[in-house]
Amino acid sequence: MTQRVALLGKPLKRRHSQVMHDAAFDAAGVDARYVLLELEPDAVEDAVRAARGDGWLGLGVTAPYKQVVAGLVDEVEADATMIGAVNNVVRVDGGRLVGFNTDAPGFRAGAELAMGRPLAGADVVVVGAGGAAHAVVYACLDAGARSVVVANRSVDRAAALIARFSGLGAGTATAIASDDPAFLGALAAAELAVNATTVGMIDAGVTIPVESLPATATVFDLVYVPAETPLVAAARARGLRAANGSEMLIAQAAIAFERWTGVGGMADVMRAAVASLLADPTVRA
Ligand code: NAP
Repeated sequence: MTQRVALLGKPLKRRHSQVMHDAAFDAAGVDARYVLLELEPDAVEDAVRAARGDGWLGLGVTAPYKQVVAGLVDEVEADATMIGAVNNVVRVDGGRLVGFNTDAPGFRAGAELAMGRPLAGADVVVVGAGGAAHAVVYACLDAGARSVVVANRSVDRAAALIARFSGLGAGTATAIASDDPAFLGALAAAELAVNATTVGMIDAGVTIPVESLPATATVFDLVYVPAETPLVAAARARGLRAANGSEMLIAQAAIAFERWTGVGGMADVMRAAVASLLADPTVRA
């Protein structure tokens, strides 16, 4: 029987995950498919229940169901609980469902590749305080960053995010409004500046004034559509190291794949499979 993983979300406009996972199933010789299940909210509980059955490896979960699915599985791993989002589920022991989060380790892999060094000891500025920013800040503090400044349009959300992670890691964590002059001061001392907002994808524009960054800083934009985001373009024009979110996307998919199948090392297969989609200028947010 062909096994399944289903991505639950609404809307599901992108095929990147499906393309990566199906290529990896083929390369690994695993008889399984990754299917897209665009669901209304009242259908999510049944979809999660169905995934307990034979023939299921697990689930992928995207907006707006990353919180609700956490309440429907048998166990949520500690880091996913802290981050407040389950973006993948693995079926274990003949039907138990375990929720986990791959955005944090995916971000760490992507950011460390972009920086060319570990996050440990780094001074980081993160712009944004939504779901992705939670995973980013968790990853930075957990990896031993020296300082994390979270700047957001709504400072209350940044403060709530920081409060959630109090006591995690040895680094300092500070919340500021992105129109506070202290934001520019934090950028001047940053080794890594991260855009974890939807700006650059849904809204045009740039959240990080790259001229405020030191020449040694790395810019990491979680947005990966379009491939060269306005922020990445501005950072490169200033001569900075810069990367979009594609390596994070690939790394988090490879981590989930290994949990579902036991087969690791699929990032290269996934990168090759998704390359044309990532480069396609007609693919829009
Ligand atoms: P979200 O929960 O909706 O959060 C959106 C964030 O963007 C909030 O901090 C919001 O600020 C901010 N924002 C929105 N419009 C803004 C504007 N015009 N000016 C300034 N700030 C603005 O979204 P999310 O789930 O965290 O996703 C954020 C981005 O990360 C998306 O582009 C997503 O595709 C990307 N992402 C990438 C990966 C990857 O693997 N590469 C993984 C996950 C997410 P307020 O709080 O003030 O509203």
